[in-house]
Amino acid sequence: MIRIIVFNFSFLLAGFALAGSVFPYTPQSVNDSSGKVLRWDSKEIVVSISNSEMDTISYGVFEAIVKESFGKWAIESDLRIRFEQVSKTNVSTRKSGGDGVSLVTVAPTSENLLLFGERKTSVSAITRLFFDASGRITEADIVLNPTARFTTDGSPGSFDLEATLTHEAGHFLGLGHSGIVGATMHRHQGKNGTFALPAIYSRTLSSDDRAGIRFLYGSGTKLGERFGSLEGRLVEAQPAGLDLTGAHVWIESSVTGEVIAGIETDKMGRFSIPWVPVGTYRLIAAGRNGAFLSAQERDVVVVSRKISREEILVGANPRSERIRSYGFNGQIANIAIPLEAGHSYLIFVSGKDLDPERIRFECTSPAISVDSLTLARHYARNGQDVLSFEVNLSPGTANGEYSFRVYEGEKLISYLPGVVTVGVIKNPWYSALF
Ligand SMILES: [Zn+2]
Repeated sequence: MIRIIVFNFSFLLAGFALAGSVFPYTPQSVNDSSGKVLRWDSKEIVVSISNSEMDTISYGVFEAIVKESFGKWAIESDLRIRFEQVSKTNVSTRKSGGDGVSLVTVAPTSENLLLFGERKTSVSAITRLFFDASGRITEADIVLNPTARFTTDGSPGSFDLEATLTHEAGHFLGLGHSGIVGATMHRHQGKNGTFALPAIYSRTLSSDDRAGIRFLYGSGTKLGERFGSLEGRLVEAQPAGLDLTGAHVWIESSVTGEVIAGIETDKMGRFSIPWVPVGTYRLIAAGRNGAFLSAQERDVVVVSRKISREEILVGANPRSERIRSYGFNGQIANIAIPLEAGHSYLIFVSGKDLDPERIRFECTSPAISVDSLTLARHYARNGQDVLSFEVNLSPGTANGEYSFRVYEGEKLISYLPGVVTVGVIKNPWYSALF
């Protein structure tokens, strides 16, 4: 029997009531009990590009960007991807069970339009996967929203074509959504102009995305000695009957603070992160909607070709679900904030009951400091507060995604995993000092 899963990539901006669930990069499973992950059986995959026209982009450019978007994933893994041009325009229907043609299309056919229903302008694309009970993907279809505007030059109000396709290619290959905000596989996408910046950072795979594709298809290099694995489980610091299922576990470099990879725990609170580059990491856990957090952070070492086994102590977080979104340049959204090394920026955080007298932010990277004297409240309505604070990135800040810890008094109440992405795009909106 063929089963189906559908992903959509949605745009959210300036909402003060956004959903806040946490998901990992990896992987989609057949169902919760079997834990079988979705992946292609073959390491050679054929992508059929529909010969359909877009208003704003020529077929030649479209085809080149499809190839580029898939190529970024292939180069990080053992996958080989072939492309062919086809005249087929319609996505396979849910009932059909698929026709074996894995299509990328933007054609405004009624079948394709139907997929978007009422969400006509907020969803840029949908990927539909067909797979069997063993998790073997038999077909994947990507439909770009025929009514959305796609561009390649950052035009305000449009979706970036390459950022969209790179994300959808991740789904096509079997990846789910990531809990790392700055990852290409994060569930929300910005339109160009959000934060007065081009929304193109999803064109670039984050460390978490690369870890995800390695998980499914291997490292793409013969350099296995560069990697080890991390396995473990969550353990309650004090028995409180916490539900340890579906927690977000991630690792950050102990040296730079860069987010490396994240994953979701199973029903037993267990996790496994294969293909971790050899190094020393902080291993952090946050329950669904922040219901619990790491009771302590400590360093773990990943060594070549070995599995390191770790337990993470977690404790209940009565202040869960406090921070819901982030912002920049006077806007709040659920997407990462792109910054550049060597500059200072004013960033915004939105959430419930955030008292600037009691709340404190701290970046997990030593290269990024928070100026706590600048913490201020900008907005407070219906129990939602918007705070701002200035961050300073040292000139040596490495490219990558970085997280913040949020404290209320002395108590840790939230993590913002990978909410800042450094170095992928220019951000000229830095603070000037006089
Ligand atoms: Zn998605």
